[in-house]
Amino acid sequence: MKIIMLGAPGAGKGTQAKKIAAKYGIPHISTGDIFRANIKNGTELGKKAKTYMDQGLLVPDELVVDLVVDRVNQDDCKNGYVLDGFPRTIPQAEALTEALEKMGQKVDFAIDVNVPDENIVKRMGGRRACVTCGATYHMVYAPTKKEGICDTCGGELILRDDDKPETVQKRLNVYHDQTQPLIDYYTSQGILRTVDGTVDIDDVFRAITEFLGA
Ligand code: ADP
Ligand code: ADP
Ligand code: ZN
Repeated sequence: MKIIMLGAPGAGKGTQAKKIAAKYGIPHISTGDIFRANIKNGTELGKKAKTYMDQGLLVPDELVVDLVVDRVNQDDCKNGYVLDGFPRTIPQAEALTEALEKMGQKVDFAIDVNVPDENIVKRMGGRRACVTCGATYHMVYAPTKKEGICDTCGGELILRDDDKPETVQKRLNVYHDQTQPLIDYYTSQGILRTVDGTVDIDDVFRAITEFLGA
């Protein structure tokens, strides 16, 4: 099963993608996580990506597309995958469609996790990320057992630089300009499924499994 997660920054794409990956036994591929790992390791790609990410802008398509196409060609992706944070522009979506067509494959579902901007701004202030493993929590909606400490690895939790309110508003604008057109793109391919992302995490997941199947 090949799945794409769509939705504004903070809509809950990553949260749901992890649950889908666990339930269906497929890899979770997050371009944001890949960039953050590259930044942490000081790679050339990380250095380039950081200048855009810090400003709340998208990393240029040419730095993203090959990376994802290579990734989905790896062995562990044979039975499918859940892409989280890619595609984010029409050219990225077209590049993915073309690359998959060459392999005789296609995306099965594009899931739009729908959350209004007002809710996003409120939600983002509470998001916390582990500096060590990248796990995501929320101070109110998905708290850790011990405050400020990652449940998975014991790492320290931080507010991402790009989750500060000024940058969140900018990312929302970028989302509406560049990413929202993908909703029409995947609607016309007949694979868009929209879920209400404002309800509890488990209820969002229940709505998703209804169309993905058991
Ligand atoms: P969120 O989870 O809040 O939606 P991500 O972790 O997916 O954010 O992405 C963080 C940042 O990484 C984005 O604001 C953007 O700068 C960059 N990024 C991630 N994926 C892409 C992509 N497919 N194209 C361009 N930039 C990307
Ligand atoms: P995205 O990957 O779309 O940027 P995340 O999955 O990181 O979004 O979720 C953003 C923040 O909101 C995180 O702190 C997460 O724990 C929290 N969150 C995710 N889904 C929900 C939900 N349905 N209700 C409340 N909070 C949520
Ligand atoms: Zn951790």
